[in-house]
Amino acid sequence: EKQFANEGESRSDSGTSGKVVFLTGVGGFIGSHTAEVLLERGDKVVGIDEMNDYYDVAIKRANIELLRRKAAEVAARDTSGETSHEDLFVFAEADICERELVKSLFDEHNVTHVCHLAARAGVRPSIEDPFIYIHSNIVGTVSLMSIAAEHGVQNFVYASSSSVYGGSKKQVFAESDRVDNQVSQYAATKKSCELFAATYHSLYGLQSTGLRFFTVYGPRGRPDMAPYKFMNRIFNGITLQQYGDGSSARDYTYISDIVNGVVLAIDKPLGCEVVNLGKGNTCKLKEFISTIERLCGRKAKIEILPDQPGDVPYTCADTTKAAELLGYKPKVQLEEGLTKTVAWFRQYEESKKSRKERDDDGVLAEVDD
Ligand code: NAD
Repeated sequence: EKQFANEGESRSDSGTSGKVVFLTGVGGFIGSHTAEVLLERGDKVVGIDEMNDYYDVAIKRANIELLRRKAAEVAARDTSGETSHEDLFVFAEADICERELVKSLFDEHNVTHVCHLAARAGVRPSIEDPFIYIHSNIVGTVSLMSIAAEHGVQNFVYASSSSVYGGSKKQVFAESDRVDNQVSQYAATKKSCELFAATYHSLYGLQSTGLRFFTVYGPRGRPDMAPYKFMNRIFNGITLQQYGDGSSARDYTYISDIVNGVVLAIDKPLGCEVVNLGKGNTCKLKEFISTIERLCGRKAKIEILPDQPGDVPYTCADTTKAAELLGYKPKVQLEEGLTKTVAWFRQYEESKKSRKERDDDGVLAEVDD
C-alpha cells in the first residue's frame, strides 16, 4: 500500500509550509512564475520539465537558474543553517510520460500536491503536428493523474485553456457553457484533460481543478505568443504579421493574476471543477498593438494576413465562479501589465545585446530572431 502523501507533511525537508508541490512545466513561462511564488511562501517544489525546443531553450534554462537562486535565498533565511536549496527545489529534466521516474520522485519527496502546467502549447502548430500534442497533453496528463491518484495527493491542479470554448459566439464565456466545438487539436487535448479529470475523480476520488487560462502575458513571456512577438518586432523595427482586420479580441491576463489564481486553487481542493482564470475584459488586436507601440515609443510596420485556421475571433472570461470558489480577483489592468512587460522586454533586449557584443569578440553568438 502506498503511503498517503499528506503523511509527509511533518517531514523536515518539505519547506516550511509542509506542502510538497510536484510542478510540471517548471522551466516554462507560467510554471517558473508559479514556482517562484510557491518557494517564497515556503513550499517545497519538485519540478519537472523536458526543456523542449518549442521555443529557445536558453529561456527555460535561465528560468531554472532563477529558481535555484530563489531557493537558495529562501534557504538562507533559515538561521539554523539546516536547510539547503536542494531541500526546497528539486529539478528533473525529463518527459512527464516517464512513469517510473515520476513515481520515484513522488515516493522520494512525499508529494502532497500536483500543479500540472507542462504541455505542448500553441494553437496553430497543433494543427500541423497533432501527435506531439496528444503525447504531452493527453498521455502525459493521464499518466500523472493515475500516479497522483495512486499516491493519494491532496489536490491536482492543471492547466486547461480558454481555447476549449472554441468558436463560441457568446460575449462572455462561462464554465457552464456547453463546449464541444474545439477548433484546434490543442484545444481538443485540453478538453480531453478535463474529461479525464472527471473520470479520475469518479473512479479514484482524485480531487482536481482545471484552470482555463485566458491569454497570459508578462515578463519572461513566451516568445511564440503575440504580446512578445509584437514587442520584439516593434522594438526592432521588423514587420509584424497581423492576422485578420484587427477586430479579433482577447482577454489578456497578467501573469501575477494567473499565478495568484493557481496558488488559490492549489490551496483549496474543490472536488472536481473547471474554473476560468482570466481578466474578464477584452482588448481588440489593433488596440493591443497600438498600446504596445505607445509604450515602446515606436510605430509598428504591419503586414495584414488572412485569419489563421484554429484561431478564435474572441475570448472573454466570466470570472464569477473563480471569485466564488477560490476568492480569485484579477487586479492588473492591461495598461499597467503591458507597461511592466515592455519594461522587462527593454531590459531583456539590452542584456541580450551586451551578451552578443561580448560573444562577438569570442566564439558564441546566441541571439534569437
Ligand atoms: P510554456 O511552453 O512556457 O511551458 C510549458 C513547459 O512544459 C515548457 O517548458 C515545456 O518544455 C514543458 N513540457 C512540454 N511537454 C512536456 C513533457 N511531455 N514533459 C515535460 N515537460 C514538458 O507554456 P506556458 O505558457 O507556461 O503554459 C503553461 C500551461 O498553461 C500549459 O499547459 C498551456 O497549455 C497552458 N495555457 C497557457 C496559456 C498562455 O497564455 N500562456 C493560455 C492557456 C493555457
